[in-house]
This record gives sequence, C-alpha cells and structure tokens, in this order.
Amino acid sequence: MTRTPDALVLGAGPNGLVAAATLARAGLSVLVLEAESEPGGAVRTGELTLPGFRHDLGAAFFPFGQVSPAFVPLDLAGAGLVWRHAPLDSAHPAPDGTCASIARDHHATALSLGEDAEPWQRIATWHARTRERMLDALLSTLPALRPLLRFGPLNLLRLAEVALSSGRGFSSRTFRSEAARRIIPGLALHTDVGPDDPCGAIVGFMLAVLASSAGFPVPEGGADAITRALVHRIEEHGGSIRVNARVDQILVRQHRAAAVRLTNGEEIPAARFIIADLAAPSLYLDLLPEPHVPARIRRAMRRFPHGFGTFKVDWALDAPVPWSHPEPARAAVVHAADSLDDLSMFTRQVRAGTLPKNPYLVIGQQSLLDPTRAPAGRHTLYAYSRVPSSLEGGWQAARERFADRVEQRIEQLAPGFRKHILARAIASPPDLQAMNANLIGGDLGGGSADIRHQLIFRPVFPWFRYRTPVRGLYLGSSYTHPGAGVHGASGRNAALAALEDET
Ligand SMILES: Cc1cc2nc3c(=O)[nH]c(=O)nc-3n(C[C@H](O)[C@H](O)[C@H](O)COP(=O)(O)OP(=O)(O)OC[C@H]3O[C@@H](n4cnc5c(N)ncnc54)[C@H](O)[C@@H]3O)c2cc1C
Repeated sequence: MTRTPDALVLGAGPNGLVAAATLARAGLSVLVLEAESEPGGAVRTGELTLPGFRHDLGAAFFPFGQVSPAFVPLDLAGAGLVWRHAPLDSAHPAPDGTCASIARDHHATALSLGEDAEPWQRIATWHARTRERMLDALLSTLPALRPLLRFGPLNLLRLAEVALSSGRGFSSRTFRSEAARRIIPGLALHTDVGPDDPCGAIVGFMLAVLASSAGFPVPEGGADAITRALVHRIEEHGGSIRVNARVDQILVRQHRAAAVRLTNGEEIPAARFIIADLAAPSLYLDLLPEPHVPARIRRAMRRFPHGFGTFKVDWALDAPVPWSHPEPARAAVVHAADSLDDLSMFTRQVRAGTLPKNPYLVIGQQSLLDPTRAPAGRHTLYAYSRVPSSLEGGWQAARERFADRVEQRIEQLAPGFRKHILARAIASPPDLQAMNANLIGGDLGGGSADIRHQLIFRPVFPWFRYRTPVRGLYLGSSYTHPGAGVHGASGRNAALAALEDET
C-alpha cells in the first residue's frame, strides 16, 4: 500500500480484524498494524509442546463463532473456516462422581441433568426462540434501543430476572442438584465473576444458553483458522496487515488523530481515522500525548479494574484423558469445580492475592473434536485457571508448582492422567502479557466483567460508544462493550461509529 490509507487499525486481534474487514468491505483502504510477528491477538495456534501438537495460545472455544452479528456478514465458512462440534459442549464433573453436562443436543442434556432436565429445557427452549434478537440486543452499540424493542419487554423482563441475581442465587432457585447448580457459576468464572457476586448470574447464563444452541465448537486446524479467515476477508477487499509493527504513539494534529509512530520511529499517516484494538489504559496513558486526554480519564485509567490473571497449561498426551465419569470424555470443554462453595472459596483466594488451593479449571479437549490437532492416536489438552495477576515472590518461582497443582486437580477426576503426559507448556500471567500487550496481568477479558464495569461504564463513562476524546480515534477492543469473547462486536461497532461520523 503506497498511498496514505483511509484507516489505520492498531492491533490484529479478532476485534481489530473485524473492524478492518468491515471498513475494507465498505470500500476504504485499510492498513492493520500488529505488534507481534503474526496476526490474531489471543486467537492464535502454535506447536507449544512437541512437533505436530497444535495448541491454542489463547481462545479455544467459540460459542459466538457462527452466530455473532459481527461475524455472520463476513461468511467465515466461505473463507475456509470449518467448525467441529463435540457430542457434549460443557461437562461439569466433581470428585464425588457426579457430573452435569449441557449440549446442543437437548436430549443428551436431559439425560445428563435428570431431575433438573425440565427447568433447563424451559431456559433452552426460550433461548432458541429468542437467540438472534438477544444477541443483537447484547452485542450492539449502546443504547441498543431498536434491538431491545425487537427483543421485547417480556423477554427483557425474563433476562432482567437473571441479570439481577447472583450465580448462586439463580442456580439455587432454578436447579435441585448440586451438579446442575455448579454449571452457571462455573461458566461465569471464565471471567472474574464469582458465584456470590451481585448481578453475576448473567455472564454464566449467557455462556450456558449459547452452549445449548451454538455449542462450544472449535475451528478445524486450530483457533488461528478464524484469524486466517478474517485476514482473507480483509485482503480480498484490498486491505493489508503489517506485523512486527508496534505502535508507540498516536500523533494528534489539529485536534485529530492523524498518524501513528512505531517503536522504530517510522510515522504512518491515516487519511480519515484510526481504530485501536488496544488496551484502554495503554491507549489513554501511554500512546496518546497527555494534553489530549482529560485528567479524569487518566485518573480512571490509573485505577482501571482489570479482571483476574490467567494461568494456562497445554499438554501433549499419548492418549485421551482417562476421565472417571463417561461424560467428560465426550465433551469439548470440562469444568473442574466441586461445588458452589468450592467456587466461592476459589474466588475468595484469588481476590486475596493467594494461589488457589483447589484451582477451578476450564479444560479444553480440542483434539477430541478435531484430530488434526495432534499426531494420529495422540491428543492435546488445554486448561486454564484464574489466578492473581501478581504474586508475592513473583510468578517465576511459582509456575511449575502451580502447574503441578493443576495436574493434580485433573488427576482427581481422571486417575492415571499424568501417566499420559508427553510434554507440557506453561503460560503464567506475565507470559500471557508478553505474548499480547492487551492481556495486562494475564487478564483475558479486557477488564473486569463485574456489572459495575460493564455497559456504559466500559471502559469509562461517557466514552462507551467507541469514540474517544480525540476526533478520528476510536477504541474497538474487548475493553469496550460488550467485552470479552471472540464475537468481533466491539471492532464492528467501532468501525460503524467511524463510518457514521463521516456521513
Ligand atoms: C487464555 C485465553 C483463553 C480465552 N478463551 C476464550 C474462548 O475460549 N472463547 C472466547 O470467545 N474468548 C476467549 N478468550 C477471550 C478472547 O480471546 C478475547 O476476548 C479476544 O481475543 C479479544 O479480542 P481483541 O481483538 O479485543 O484483543 P486481542 O485478541 O487481545 O488482540 C489485541 C492485539 O493488539 C496487539 N497490540 C497490542 N498493543 C499493540 C501496539 N501498541 N501496537 C500494535 N499492536 C498492538 C496485540 O499484539 C494483539 O494482537 C480467551 C483469552 C485468553 C487469553
């Protein structure tokens, strides 16, 4: 690209790539600048353990992949993306031998939930009827009045009943068995929302209902297949991506974002506007010149509410995990959590800055669904826990010990698991941040998912509609509404805001 691009997109995570694809399809010339050596942000895949074992570096399961209103118009399947599903989407086993699982197959869910099949069926049937309208309302730019009206007042009331509950409150009211009760609060801890947090039920509820309709599919070949499909959509419309291009400063001229400076000193201008797929604190505190950021925003960014850190382990295995209960052996994602009280204690320990004794785990079995992830007969395994971002004594001293604790937790549910390990790779919070500057302290969510930091407070009021105090500069990362997850909605909404401002 020799002429000045109409738009620069800073960061090639899924939101940046969706923003770029949206703009390129609208006829703009777009250049994406990515700090790392490949695009994808937290949606990448690599041989982290042994040759032939393809591990997802960050995101691995994509409930929004086929249904997000930001992805649907980009037809990622038409760009080569193939989805793989497991018979069960989310299994929740405990050492007491119980397990509750949910799946796209409602019959399979009913068999697993037993006495709780009926309340679950009511929720899943309602969701199936309202999913498109619900996603439109939740993923659109706020205030999403038209989508909310389409969703309808009764549906809104029903969702509000969930939204006003804690995970524990909603689950205890709705389900009878402890196994079913740990599903929604367990899913909420993908973020930093604990079972007793006020208004905490909605996060786990959304993941649970999506598991029942869209499932927790994986892309064939690796999560990076999503990135490749998005890059394809950008390039086919003339856009381009430049890697190893870390932006150091945003240059503001005549009160407008006019260009960026890379760490090598190179200056790259933007003819019309700039969209940042960046961490809000980095944008406002590091990249923008101080006089262009109101003092109130700088203060808010200095005490920005990050989510928990993340500790991730990937394994190369010589066989599938030998789960005691049959359901996890057929599930895309397995959650290790003994009970609601176990989840509460885990949350308290992380918030107190200590290493959780019995780490809650999100465990991914990508190679069960997609054999291309490992050599024939072998398997990959992926797990993460939520942890304090920093530890007394530092993460370096604790990482191997904590990875052993993670393995011990899986061993409890699958005796003999450790015998099958060929190799493991560990990523502690500082490792994740080194891989992707947006993952500050290993926070995978672009800031806390607590209700006080959502909606119009994300990342800071009143700049929740992707615009910033600098004209021509937009923020479109997961630090903006609707937050974490690979749905591309923040990127799409930022691109639409930029286009709207020009008309
Ligand atoms: C371990 C882990 C597991 C997850 N699991 C799931 C999951 O299973 N399903 C799901 O839906 N979501 C999951 N997520 C969350 C999801 O990956 C994120 O919400 C999503 O990637 C956010 O997209 P983004 O484009 O906003 O930012 P990112 O994906 O973080 O991308 C930001 C990009 O900006 C680049 N960048 C940063 N600073 C600069 C700079 N100064 N100059 C140029 N480029 C820069 C970074 O290198 C990066 O490529 C997970 C995340 C992690 C880390």
